[in-house]
Amino acid sequence: MRILPSPQKSENISGSFCIDGNAMIFCDGEFVPQAERFADLVYESCGFFLHFTDVIENAQIIFSKDKALPDEGYVIMINRGVATVTSSTTSGCFYAVESLRQIFNLDVKQQRVLCADGYVEDSPRFAYRGFMLDISRHYFDLDVLKQLVDLMSQVKLNVLHLHLTDDQGFRLQIDKYPLLTEIASKREGSEVTVNGESYIDDVPHGGYLTKEQVRQLVEFAAMRNVTIVPEIDLPGHFVAALAAYPELSCTGNVAEVRKKWSASKDILCAGNDNVYQFVCDVLDEVCELFPSPYVHLGGEDVPKDRWCNCKLCRERMSQLKIDSIDELQTYMIETFRKHLESKGKTVIIRNDGVTKNTDTRIVSQLWTTVKHHRAARQTRIGRKIIISPRRKVNFNQSYRVASVKRILRLNPYHGVRNSDKDNVLGVEGAIWTQHVETKDQLFFQLLPRLDALAECAWGKRRKDFFLRLQKRLAYYDKLGLNYNRKFVRKQSGKADDAQQGDTL
Ligand SMILES: [Zn+2]
Repeated sequence: MRILPSPQKSENISGSFCIDGNAMIFCDGEFVPQAERFADLVYESCGFFLHFTDVIENAQIIFSKDKALPDEGYVIMINRGVATVTSSTTSGCFYAVESLRQIFNLDVKQQRVLCADGYVEDSPRFAYRGFMLDISRHYFDLDVLKQLVDLMSQVKLNVLHLHLTDDQGFRLQIDKYPLLTEIASKREGSEVTVNGESYIDDVPHGGYLTKEQVRQLVEFAAMRNVTIVPEIDLPGHFVAALAAYPELSCTGNVAEVRKKWSASKDILCAGNDNVYQFVCDVLDEVCELFPSPYVHLGGEDVPKDRWCNCKLCRERMSQLKIDSIDELQTYMIETFRKHLESKGKTVIIRNDGVTKNTDTRIVSQLWTTVKHHRAARQTRIGRKIIISPRRKVNFNQSYRVASVKRILRLNPYHGVRNSDKDNVLGVEGAIWTQHVETKDQLFFQLLPRLDALAECAWGKRRKDFFLRLQKRLAYYDKLGLNYNRKFVRKQSGKADDAQQGDTL
């Protein structure tokens, strides 16, 4: 009964379970969509439909509710010819079905559903189990995003964080500012590096999500217990939008959507009132579109050269009696935090945008190398954090650097006192797409590292990871997805060794 990510508790019971087309499902009303999804999976695998019954004694598969179970948790008991699935929420039931899919091997063709008797008791290690995709440097369309959400939900990841904006492209329709799609969503060329030499090609690149597409994505994700967290990165990494509205920069002079990958020195002016109005207008439309409790405001890697030389920025600093240029960024973020809080949203920013005056209600995403003291300091003052050490979980890096082993060994609680552990919301991986252009490249970088991320975010990270990964790989083969086969082949020998000590 191998499940990926590994469940909190599971054990074998002697005996076996087998059903064919005569078996029936009994289901607590609330969980009917999940039970139907299970029946669909059985149909795809075995070619027969399981019928529903109102008489529990006649059922071989039972979906029932137990309010005492944790939110996303579930229990599966397979014994004496009956499989009973218990959960307290539809998300828990969704994950139970994903586990049954692996237990019963429903991604392959078979005659009947067959497995050993057993017991699984499961709930997530972290509430926030995320993955970030940068769709600014290279745009990925709705179909790819839906497939990504699907793959994530199958391994119980629950947050897709979309990096929607950067210097190289603004990828979201905003009705109030149509130039954000007319101008900011397109660039005339991109930086290409060949044999260590970089040049700008003249291949145009563009694309953006319409509001209708966002609504479709949000709905598709919600059915799979995935929240879409939008990111509007500011005050730096904003050149694409500034190319459309240059009056929002300090110099008023931004010529084009950036083609180079490095961050531009042109950033939003912190002294111009129109900037605050513009960003609040954009955030209002973002909040209308994305029901997520979180809005990510980026905040990383901001060159302050323009602010130092800008009259409006310097005036704003003296008005506010701010003597550090970094605190001007904190003031700006605080303005947007208050605005978003009035709409019930919590702000996330990356840790290098956090200063000593950053409100503790702002969540910090630790993405620069996680040093012991940084996680400790943030959580000790009551701040929530998300763990994303870039050397370990940026999957755009090679498999040698951000290796599966490193992901599996990642300890999100590193440096955090026991009493502050609740402040670690969870873990998030990422793909920055400067050098990831196609769907094939994307899935090569992603798979199977996404599975390792899920193991860290949900499970207990047991030694038999590669054995449990086999069913996922068979599924990727079935879909024709381009995962890293070379890496997987290298691991197969090690997986055989692990089998010796494998328990359920
Ligand atoms: Zn300025």
